[in-house]
Amino acid sequence: MNALHVHPHEESAERRWSRFKPIRSGEDYISSLRNRGTDLYLFGEKVAEPVDHPIIRPSINALAMTYDLALEDPDLATAHSELIDAPVNRFLHIVGSPNDLVMKNRMQRRMGQLTGTCFQRCAGLDTVSVLHSLTWDIDAAHGTSYHQRYLEFMRHAQANNIVIGAGMTDPKGDRSKRPSEQADPDMFMHVTRRTEHGIYVRGAKAHMTGGWNSHWIAVMPTMNLGPGDKDYAVVGLVPVDAAGLTFIYGRQSCDTRAMESGKIDQGNARFGGQEALVVFDDVFIPHEHVLMDGEYTFAQLMVSRFTSYHRASYVCKTGLGDVMVGAAAAIAEYNGVDQASHVKDKLVEMTHLNETIYSSAIASSHEAKQLASGIFMNDEMLANVCKHNVTRFPYEISRLAQDLAGGLMVTLPSEQEFESEVTGPILRKYLQGRANVPIEHRQRMLRLIENMTLGRNAVGYLTESLHGAGSPQAQRIQIQRQMDVEKKKKYAQNLAGIGEESGN
Ligand code: SF4
Repeated sequence: MNALHVHPHEESAERRWSRFKPIRSGEDYISSLRNRGTDLYLFGEKVAEPVDHPIIRPSINALAMTYDLALEDPDLATAHSELIDAPVNRFLHIVGSPNDLVMKNRMQRRMGQLTGTCFQRCAGLDTVSVLHSLTWDIDAAHGTSYHQRYLEFMRHAQANNIVIGAGMTDPKGDRSKRPSEQADPDMFMHVTRRTEHGIYVRGAKAHMTGGWNSHWIAVMPTMNLGPGDKDYAVVGLVPVDAAGLTFIYGRQSCDTRAMESGKIDQGNARFGGQEALVVFDDVFIPHEHVLMDGEYTFAQLMVSRFTSYHRASYVCKTGLGDVMVGAAAAIAEYNGVDQASHVKDKLVEMTHLNETIYSSAIASSHEAKQLASGIFMNDEMLANVCKHNVTRFPYEISRLAQDLAGGLMVTLPSEQEFESEVTGPILRKYLQGRANVPIEHRQRMLRLIENMTLGRNAVGYLTESLHGAGSPQAQRIQIQRQMDVEKKKKYAQNLAGIGEESGN
């Protein structure tokens, strides 16, 4: 039987790759998403061509910027791949040194400055590194051949410059129960059937960042698993247009402003984030794209490695923090209060908080250690400290930005009011700030601060900062596991002259 024609529903790995061709620019990327025939639902209706939908397009533009940045600043956003012996987009690069992690953090901050939102490509980037070491470790323990499959997949992924999305979070159902104990087994993704050519999986991945905007989705377990959960211990790579996938788009505050006329009230008309519920209804994965099937003892290791990489990736929020500091400084200037000492002090406080996040992420990358497979993983404690800072500081930075913006941020009439013959002149007269600043600049800056602290991109700047890559308690648990209080007690006892080390 020809490899391209195994079974109508069991599409081969080769056939899946045959639909791709190398992507270079943001424009190529946007074209690559067209005509995929996917099932994406928004407001209860199937969206015929998501690329052209005004609510969805800003999220696509944000991801497209990852391609354009690689062209504009290759030192920052590309790296040399030993796998294909060519430069590749840094979002697909396998981490070969601590410096690769530092460069990743710098690129993420830059992307945050350029888009002011979640650019959705980092969970996939971190998954690429996790799967390198994980497949290596499983093969070493079980004699499997997952690592070769992984390398083969990555050769195609890098050569075609695709977007890989990370499908990790299961709906979880009753959280007091393990996957195999759930009343509905689909609350966690699991294997439903194994055939000669591959496996079928069923379940869903919740609030998946950039779910539809990806080309391929890496599905992975979301938590540690036990012997009864073997069918849930599955890692696989699935193209977004595979049969059986349904995408249900997550709403964001103020999202319908993108459907109104005008561009000012959106606050950030070009860029936005994307989260989707992705449902897998008996989706086929050929053996070549299965990277774990039943090796449940490795689920915990996979999750902890992923969170270590990804928690330091939340340095992305410092780029958004840079935008917030800039917006707060600009609105203070437009309001005519930029010379007040308390205003300057608030900007210093915002910067201090933002740079504290950055320093923990960069430190985590510099402290990276090599794993058995040869790649590097950043320091886990510092990655957790970084993400924990991210759960708090953007809220305080936002509070200070709102403080400097003033109440007009939430009472400003609509863009259409400013254009009206009746209300426009009245608004321009009474809402003028400093005389030489056009009223439209004030409008735009207030809308941007609203967008990032209360509106659509508050999803990316605030709530995602709180819950993405694990809610605050998840980091506290990791910090507690690693803080080694007993060792620190000994330092203190030694100096206080207590116990053996002191000689007393
Ligand atoms: Fe990247 Fe930040 Fe979005 Fe995560 S939240 S995908 S790290 S931009």
